[in-house]
Amino acid sequence: MLLKCSGWACMRLISVSKARGGNPVAVNDPEHFAIEFMICEDCGDNFCDLCHAPGTRFRAPRCASCGGRLAPGKRLEQLSGRPRPPAVEHLRRGVELVESERPEDALAELGEAIRLRPEYAAAHYWRGGALVQLDRGAEAVDAFENALRHNPSNVDALYEKAGAFARMERIEDAIDAYDRTIALQPGFPAAHLNRAVLVLDQDRDAEALAAADHVLALLTAGRTRGGSTYDAASAHSIKGAALVKLGRFAEALPFIDYAIDNGLDSWNDYYNKAYALDRLGRTEEADLARGISDSLREA
Ligand SMILES: [Zn+2]
Ligand SMILES: [Zn+2]
Repeated sequence: MLLKCSGWACMRLISVSKARGGNPVAVNDPEHFAIEFMICEDCGDNFCDLCHAPGTRFRAPRCASCGGRLAPGKRLEQLSGRPRPPAVEHLRRGVELVESERPEDALAELGEAIRLRPEYAAAHYWRGGALVQLDRGAEAVDAFENALRHNPSNVDALYEKAGAFARMERIEDAIDAYDRTIALQPGFPAAHLNRAVLVLDQDRDAEALAAADHVLALLTAGRTRGGSTYDAASAHSIKGAALVKLGRFAEALPFIDYAIDNGLDSWNDYYNKAYALDRLGRTEEADLARGISDSLREA
């Protein structure tokens, strides 16, 4: 049997086997499989041996999500099917409600989870998510900070806090929060890319260019963590935009074209393309790109 690890962006599968010493395939491939793991006695999340806190001789390690006690993986059978504490049930419903974009109802469930268990990091985090949906940015920032107080390594809470600051146009605070996110998870493409968009807006063009190049290098080296489908396209888009702003028009075009071919349709990419082509005297092609940009912008 294979279980998912609940550690942040952990791609290792937890192999549970009756075989002595563990499933041999898993034992021989520790990059992709874990044999040793722990289970949260309360929320039931599993954590591979690289993802849970160590704990001490006198105190069992705690679950990063709910603060519950972690038990050794060999107790899996014994712990499965056990009823969840009410706080965990409220969280589960709260998450479902956030995901189906019913933030008001979600707040009620998550508030109850927090009332029952004030140290519930995941409940604070999801409460932040509901507040973001309601456009209550300042309160969302507070919620993410509460999540971080109970779980300082909560990458998502830091990342979402940065996004909330950016939407409130508190740009320096947003950049600072992205910096902290990157310090925690240097391979997280979205943190680098969103930060780069902000610094590009601040006319820190060379810095944005360096950030885009850095993400492209991480992708090439396979050293990203928590990546998503459009990271490469976004990095090309930002690199193209930065090169245009730096007046390096011919150099910018292939990066913009890559973003157009591999990313989501963005008026901005076509706009940058039109601008670069104009400056290179390629008026007809520029008009074509501008037409597409305008129609995407209106859509
Ligand atoms: Zn837990
Ligand atoms: Zn893990």
